[in-house]
Amino acid sequence: MVRSSTPVIELRGLTKQYGLGDAAQNALDNVDLRVEKGEFIVIMGPSGCGKTTLLNIMGLLDRADSGEYFLDGTSVATLSKRQHARIRSRQIGIVFQSFNLINRLTVLENVALPLSYRGGMRRVKRLEQASAVLKNFHLQEREYYMPWQLSGGQVQRVAIARAIVNDPAILIADEPTGNLDPETSWDIMDIFKRINAAGTTIVMATHDKNIVDTMQRRVVAIEDGKIVRDEQRGGYGYEN
Ligand code: ADP
Ligand code: MG
Repeated sequence: MVRSSTPVIELRGLTKQYGLGDAAQNALDNVDLRVEKGEFIVIMGPSGCGKTTLLNIMGLLDRADSGEYFLDGTSVATLSKRQHARIRSRQIGIVFQSFNLINRLTVLENVALPLSYRGGMRRVKRLEQASAVLKNFHLQEREYYMPWQLSGGQVQRVAIARAIVNDPAILIADEPTGNLDPETSWDIMDIFKRINAAGTTIVMATHDKNIVDTMQRRVVAIEDGKIVRDEQRGGYGYEN
């Protein structure tokens, strides 16, 4: 893959503090990171090192105290709240460790939800598109289940389906296998690899050593809010 001149994400000197005075603590400390289109980056580090803070800023769910964030070459600080919301609904998909689905909606309705935020698509069409994504994940026969009728691995597959139903350029996943058994975790990793192979840039946080050890991609290690290692293993994206 040829490196494009404009990275999908570029962070310069990002800093975020929690607490005041003596209790102040850097959740992120001068983080520089450049994410190229098509990469699959794993962010690793112990609990409390700043992974969620970093991903929430990348996903425009939170903002840094200082530093710069360029998304597709545009500084997000120059964009309005409304533009942020638009980017969140069209360009970025997010998967969390848990609490992913809305319990009063069916699997199909959950997956179709981001399409209604984005607007301009009729309900039937939205459900059809959601159904097509679920089929891809072998969840078609669970369309009319409620979230509480699913296993943990199925919930996470539905959550991933919902995150990509809009065909986002970037998929952000925060410890998506954190609550799953090892075998189910591998299934989820396979899904991420397929999504990456189809062209989506992925940034995933994990502290699962087994996953990190087998990743033949770029691994970025964080400690105390700082990037302490940024290592390119084997392939650049999934095609390698
Ligand atoms: P990780 O996801 O790697 O476990 P986090 O980004 O959640 O780490 O947290 C980084 C640091 O910031 C931790 O020390 C955590 O306690 C602190 N922190 C995170 N969120 C908050 C918050 N809302 N208020 C105060 N401290 C927070
Ligand atoms: Mg976290």
